[in-house]
Amino acid sequence: MLQMNVQPIPTVSDRINEIRGLTASIVNNEILPHENMLWADVRGDHRLTDADREEARDLRRGVMDKVRQAGLWAPHLPTEYGGAGLDFLELAYMYEVLAYATGASSLFGIVAPNSGNQSVLVKYATEEQKQKWLLPLIDGTLQSGFSMTEPDQPGSDPRSLKTTARRDGDEWVINGHKWFTSNGLRADFFIVMCRTEEVEGTADRNAAMTQIIVPADAPGVNVVRGITVWGRPSDHVEIIYDDVRVPLENALGERGSGHQAAQDRLGAGRVYHCMNSLGQMWRAFDLMVERSLTREVHGGPLETKQFIQGMIADSYIDMQSARLMTIDCAEKMAAGQDARTDISAIKVFVPAAFHRVVDRAIQVWGAAGVSGDLPLAGMYQGARTLRLADGPDEVHKILMAKNVLAAYRRGGKGWDFGN
Ligand SMILES: Cc1cc2nc3c(=O)[nH]c(=O)nc-3n(C[C@H](O)[C@H](O)[C@H](O)COP(=O)(O)OP(=O)(O)OC[C@H]3O[C@@H](n4cnc5c(N)ncnc54)[C@H](O)[C@@H]3O)c2cc1C
Repeated sequence: MLQMNVQPIPTVSDRINEIRGLTASIVNNEILPHENMLWADVRGDHRLTDADREEARDLRRGVMDKVRQAGLWAPHLPTEYGGAGLDFLELAYMYEVLAYATGASSLFGIVAPNSGNQSVLVKYATEEQKQKWLLPLIDGTLQSGFSMTEPDQPGSDPRSLKTTARRDGDEWVINGHKWFTSNGLRADFFIVMCRTEEVEGTADRNAAMTQIIVPADAPGVNVVRGITVWGRPSDHVEIIYDDVRVPLENALGERGSGHQAAQDRLGAGRVYHCMNSLGQMWRAFDLMVERSLTREVHGGPLETKQFIQGMIADSYIDMQSARLMTIDCAEKMAAGQDARTDISAIKVFVPAAFHRVVDRAIQVWGAAGVSGDLPLAGMYQGARTLRLADGPDEVHKILMAKNVLAAYRRGGKGWDFGN
């Protein structure tokens, strides 16, 4: 099996190269050789024996031990919370390498949506909230969900969300209807985006929301169903919050800070998602080239056919352009520059490029490409989903055009592509 070819990059810090090297070593030596067996019990393969399932669990525990020994466990968390304390760029580069192997991130202690919730709690929670919710979430005794999107309101305009939290004495009373709350079947608590302020017009719509911690077993929390996604049952759940009462101290951060907290979660998160897509594209690219060298059709290996050479070249262009755009955006963010237009650009371009590369890799592999024997089918669905999640393409294009047009209007200077 082909391994991820990760060599030091001359232009990044020694620490980033060290992290990439250590991560690649675990991905290549501990995860890829066992990729199918590692997740066999989770996939529910009916041919498995109890001994196989135990072997899968042992394999996962073994990889996690190696990750801890390498000092890479929970890289998104500060060291005081048991994480590796990586900075933004270090983490971004690590996500790319991690994503090469299916499910590797969970073996490094990064499991969505818990990891995103952990980061929000680190930033917004009081000391008391951290003791009660964050620490158990980190040590795995609690699970969580992030409950923002609603069936009856556009998730792409989160300031229009209708779920309300009304103050009654020393409690919030929450009413609303949410769906696509991931991890909802296992969650012990949800961070729920609620409208706490009545605002007139659009002037301060950003200050209308507050994120509130709601225990899953609070009376009135009704998990209706896990929604079928891509034809399969899922733990992305529909929930009705019906007169749910929680103490006032369950609000996260200042009253009205919910929208900002969601933006904090998504801003850096979009770079991480793109680096994650790049790692998967890299894998799809490797699989495509590897197959084209070995599969004989109509009198010769696929690599000799110009259709296939075209797919390799187009995928190389997609991979390189997506990667350079994402790294440029990440470097701007790390330098404290205003990268909002670039964040939207990568959010549109990278999932689409990812989609194209995986599509070609599937084509080259034929039937095997859509089978469960390869990671390509899962990647394809993931890439498609990314084009609508986390702000659909259209919303980001509108934002980009708004920023560009504003720059031209302001004194007619035009856009500076050099910075
Ligand atoms: C697998 C999965 C997991 C998810 N997990 C979570 C989760 O854990 N928590 C959570 O809260 N949410 C979650 N979501 C929801 C996700 O964030 C939303 O689906 C997303 O924000 C889009 O919102 P929507 O589905 O309401 O689409 P809508 O807002 O209804 O938009 C529908 C479409 O309208 C178009 N559109 C929107 N605005 C414009 C415009 N201005 N101009 C032109 N066209 C436009 C776009 O094509 C868009 O795709 C998840 C979704 C999926 C698929």
